[in-house]
Amino acid sequence: MKKIEMKNPIVEMDGDEMTRIIWTLVKDKLILPFVDLKSEYYDLSLVNREATKDSVTIDAANATKKYHVAVKCATITPNAQRVEEYNLSQMWKSPNGTIRAILDGTVFRAPVLVKGITPLIPTWTSPIVIARHAYGDVYKNVETKVEKGDKAYLVVEGKKPSKQLIFDYEKSGGVCQGVHNLDSSISSFARSCFEYALSEKKDLWFSTKDTISKTYDHTFKDIFSEIFEKEYKKKFEEKGIEYFYTLIDDAVARIVRSSGGMIWACKNYDGDVMSDMIATAFGSLAMMTSVLVSPDGNFEYEAAHGTVTRHYYRHLKGESTSTNPVATIFAWTGALRKRGELDSTPELCEFASKLENAVIRTIEEGDMTKDLAALFKSDTVKVNTLNTEEFFDAVVKRMK
Ligand code: NAP
Ligand code: MG
Repeated sequence: MKKIEMKNPIVEMDGDEMTRIIWTLVKDKLILPFVDLKSEYYDLSLVNREATKDSVTIDAANATKKYHVAVKCATITPNAQRVEEYNLSQMWKSPNGTIRAILDGTVFRAPVLVKGITPLIPTWTSPIVIARHAYGDVYKNVETKVEKGDKAYLVVEGKKPSKQLIFDYEKSGGVCQGVHNLDSSISSFARSCFEYALSEKKDLWFSTKDTISKTYDHTFKDIFSEIFEKEYKKKFEEKGIEYFYTLIDDAVARIVRSSGGMIWACKNYDGDVMSDMIATAFGSLAMMTSVLVSPDGNFEYEAAHGTVTRHYYRHLKGESTSTNPVATIFAWTGALRKRGELDSTPELCEFASKLENAVIRTIEEGDMTKDLAALFKSDTVKVNTLNTEEFFDAVVKRMK
């Protein structure tokens, strides 16, 4: 069989522990037999981040700017215990944080749906993708306790100074907090969301509480609306998709009643809360994919879960594991499809879809890892719980 050619490389970021084992299996069993893979390889394992003083992470992020498409394996974010375990010279920063700081993007999380695993809200028949603004608000707040009898003010110094009373704590002491955001960050967030909606051909919803927060939240609404009208309205019409703004409480009510299928852009706190709700309602963390989209159109795909340390230690002891590779496989197919779209190589996009379908069919026909076996319900399909390698072989069987 002739292998599918690639015009340009993707950036490949290898990682740690069990997901590093899965990484090799995905490539060897599912990609390399079918695709003449062109990738620029960066080893983001903790061992190599230590050896390169973390410059490998920066190089990988810059390569993503050059080639516009990357696929990343889960990586250890060191804590005190890891510093000891890996004998690190310092507690290196989270690779995802470093990459996001360089690419300036937004993370979109999307569940993979299969028949047999019904979301806790059964009407959700299409994935709901959450886009969380990952800057500012309560995550960068300044807060204080205030004594009874004191007054708190919001003070701005500089070219346009102002002073507003926040509250007179005349009758009781209490608390007070200051939060901020930046037009530049909100604009980047908006562009990433519009770009991703176009790329996925899905409606984009955005929600804030602008009726109550008439300056702060209203600025989010205005920036989104301005950018949409100027830069994206026509493109959305051409793709037949919609941009829809509504209040956060109305959005929650509508999402619960919906059949899914939209991208839901959320302010930082709303996204934090809602992404956990959506992920849980759709089933398993091992089925949640994630993509970082930068406002100038760079895409980095990964699984939403970590390096599955507990399974890795069992693997090291020679025990069999049943680790679910679905999100990692879909990170690869996401990157290959995007490469295919950017390079106009439809064969590559087709391959990505075929591989995804093979994975979904494997599970729907009853072959799955342990985490899914616990959730799977069917009157007709008998469940075979497979170990990690067996699951790959079950997918390969369907690929052929
Ligand atoms: P984790 O790796 O996501 O695993 C937590 C638990 O979730 C596992 O022990 C397992 O439960 C279950 N699980 C997750 N993915 C699974 C899969 N593919 N198949 C089957 N079960 C799965 O989170 P963690 O243990 O908190 O973190 C481990 C390391 O990952 C940490 O060093 C952290 O820094 C890193 N991390 C990296 C990223 C990233 O690179 N994006 C994200 C998060 C965490 P059972 O053990 O019950 O089977
Ligand atoms: Mg959270």
